[in-house]
Amino acid sequence: MQLEFLGTGAGSPSKQRNVASVALRLLEERNAIWLFDVGEATQHQILHTTIRPRKIEKIFITHLHGDHIFGLPGLLSSRSFQGGTEPLTIYGPVGIKQYVQTSLQVSESRLSYPLHFVELTDDGELFNDHGFRVVARKLDHKIACFGYRIEEADHPGELQVEKLREQNVPSGPIYGQLKAGKTVTLPDGRTLDGHDFIGKPQPGRIVAILGDTRQTHNAVLLAQNADVLVHESTFAKDETKMAHSYYHSTSKQAAEIAKKAGVKKLLLNHISARYTGKAAYQLAYQVRNIVPDTRVVNDFDVIDIPFKK
Ligand SMILES: [Zn+2]
Repeated sequence: MQLEFLGTGAGSPSKQRNVASVALRLLEERNAIWLFDVGEATQHQILHTTIRPRKIEKIFITHLHGDHIFGLPGLLSSRSFQGGTEPLTIYGPVGIKQYVQTSLQVSESRLSYPLHFVELTDDGELFNDHGFRVVARKLDHKIACFGYRIEEADHPGELQVEKLREQNVPSGPIYGQLKAGKTVTLPDGRTLDGHDFIGKPQPGRIVAILGDTRQTHNAVLLAQNADVLVHESTFAKDETKMAHSYYHSTSKQAAEIAKKAGVKKLLLNHISARYTGKAAYQLAYQVRNIVPDTRVVNDFDVIDIPFKK
């Protein structure tokens, strides 16, 4: 499981940062890529990565501002052009369906795969399947905007093969039964309970990816105990007034949310073009006293999300 940042800028593209898009790479976990927002030229950014558009299984849109959706019709069309046949589902605020369908209709674009829409009106669970549960909650932006919480199911513990060997349990189908937690009787008459030979389950990972927002309690709920929180930081630490009037957050506000939620790693994105070079990195340095593991992400950064030790 990795996050790959395709665009980390706010508002309009700059030479340093394209507009919003993040890929959650779940290739090992479910042979899929999920995208969060598709700003203009996201498909161009994808060309510089190993992501194949046909692997994109789900797209989550946070809100309908242009810097988050103007790349969507082009990406959908190219996915079709490249022979994608697997279904694709788009989640987002009401209006996303009309936007996409109108763009495709007017341009007479036909897709080679089924396209589904789930329009969100309120907080709630979106789905729970193949080891992943996703919850959406409303944020506080000028227009309807959602944040997403992705929870991976716990992985069952491994069979402790060495322990079985130590006790001279012959390998064979019995191992499979023990791994399934069954009680088995060996040819020599011993009875073994599978639960005694299964290691601790591995807790699933939690990632929260937020859209544009003022500081809001729903962000804390989305990020509760997350391994990684991706939070916007359109403004620097002391620009609280500016952040409020434009319905955005400062780096400090993002860090406060992360701290309240007990987040391990905070990734700041949606960086305004007025912070370039060192000034952008300052956004993170300024708040490491609140959350030590904070960084400003750049386009094409890949962040691995390891299991808890
Ligand atoms: Zn934005």
